[in-house]
Amino acid sequence: MHDQSIAELAEGLRARRFSSRELTQHFLERIERIDPTLNSYITVSTDVALAAADAADGRIAAGDAGPLTGIPLAHKDIFLTRGIRTSCASRMLDNFIAPFDATVVERLAGTGVVTLGKTNMDEFAMGSSNETSYYGPARNPWDTTRVPGGSSGGSAAAVAGGLCVAATGTDTGGSIRQPAALCGVTGIKPTYGRCSRWGMIAFASSLDQAGVLTRSAEDAALLLQAMAGFDQRDSTSAREMVPDYSAGLGDDLTGLRIGLPAEYFGEGLDAGVEASVRAALAELEKLGATIHDISLPNAPLSVPVYYVVAPAECSSNLARFDGVRYGHRCEAPKDLEDLYKRSRAEGFGDEVKRRIMVGTYALSAGYYDAYYLKAQQLRQLIAGDFRRAFEQVDVIMGPTTPATAFELGAKTDDPVAMYLNDIYTIATNLAGLPGLSVPVAPVNGLPVGLQMIGDTFAEGRLLNVAHRLQQATDWHRAAPADPA
Ligand code: GLN
Repeated sequence: MHDQSIAELAEGLRARRFSSRELTQHFLERIERIDPTLNSYITVSTDVALAAADAADGRIAAGDAGPLTGIPLAHKDIFLTRGIRTSCASRMLDNFIAPFDATVVERLAGTGVVTLGKTNMDEFAMGSSNETSYYGPARNPWDTTRVPGGSSGGSAAAVAGGLCVAATGTDTGGSIRQPAALCGVTGIKPTYGRCSRWGMIAFASSLDQAGVLTRSAEDAALLLQAMAGFDQRDSTSAREMVPDYSAGLGDDLTGLRIGLPAEYFGEGLDAGVEASVRAALAELEKLGATIHDISLPNAPLSVPVYYVVAPAECSSNLARFDGVRYGHRCEAPKDLEDLYKRSRAEGFGDEVKRRIMVGTYALSAGYYDAYYLKAQQLRQLIAGDFRRAFEQVDVIMGPTTPATAFELGAKTDDPVAMYLNDIYTIATNLAGLPGLSVPVAPVNGLPVGLQMIGDTFAEGRLLNVAHRLQQATDWHRAAPADPA
């Protein structure tokens, strides 16, 4: 059952071949057996899951079920869940139980999904390998000596390893697409503002966006339908109407113009990854698409720009974790200053501290113009490159990552090498655009992702293209063997 898609499982539930309780128990049993190796969950919510499964079975029996009713999912541990701990993979929030659900969680719960638990991630979503988690790294189910990617590494590992049907994620600079690529699953980051950020712990507010990691584009369409749309509690949520994503999946690709940015196929790209990406592009050509060379001349600036903007916003967002209102508090503080200093020193890990220091520096008087303001100007240039490109092409494609999953520990001592993992994903966030990664042919047994970038609010188009590719190929059906 754990290798089936949402549509297949929903059919089985409706036909009463199995109940949601049986399906949920199947996943809980797998988590108990396999997750000690993968470490893809921080918290498993057994009781909550079984109660939701029973409620879903009631809805199915009453003929009141939708396409997601009774489907077991997991949430990245950055989304607030009422009654289930939300740690953001930080010691700071190790004891935090939110009093309300994030909008995304609440909307999915309304459809009758079952929440199996909260997935592992990099601390406060800062990282590309899941190795900054306070709870230890998640592991890649294709090779457990390797990272699953990050920051939504637990979600990617859980979906790829058959420990949930699908999982939510967040993407500030690549954190859905990069782990989706490294674990061989489908991942979509919608347009900035498409899904509400209410109840999603803030990292870099002008970049953060919720999305999903799934077995197929078809599953992603179903979930995004439930999650997306205006939310008055998030002032940056878009008032744009949400189209029927599933209805658009079948559209023909004849005449689709695909742009390949020269900057995404240059030095630093692994030859095997490039060959897999090009083989997938050839499949899309067979489906009627045409390929065009384009340029995003400012793309090489995206990593340096991001590493000013994201730390600056994080230094401000994370100021709220002060040991007073919630979160970790040090023992026996001498006075208020000691309370702040020691609570934060003890509660945050090294990468989070590094970002807070860089961000505070970039925002300080005297440096603000040279760093933060300059980065915001370059961000406009990067967005302008995309605007011009979308006058010529419908979708931009390239590799999601420069290489396949690396060994645990390989980059932990070199932050810059770690940051360069997101070289192809970050520009999309800076421009606020939707991006999707689909699995293509593996290299040496390790998954590879093809990235598709769309114009503003074109996530329906991305899902359509990914779905047509998945109908014509079976790369997305490959699954790793259970770890011994
Ligand atoms: N890897 C990037 C970072 O470390 C992006 C993380 C993300 O998208 N949340 O900031």
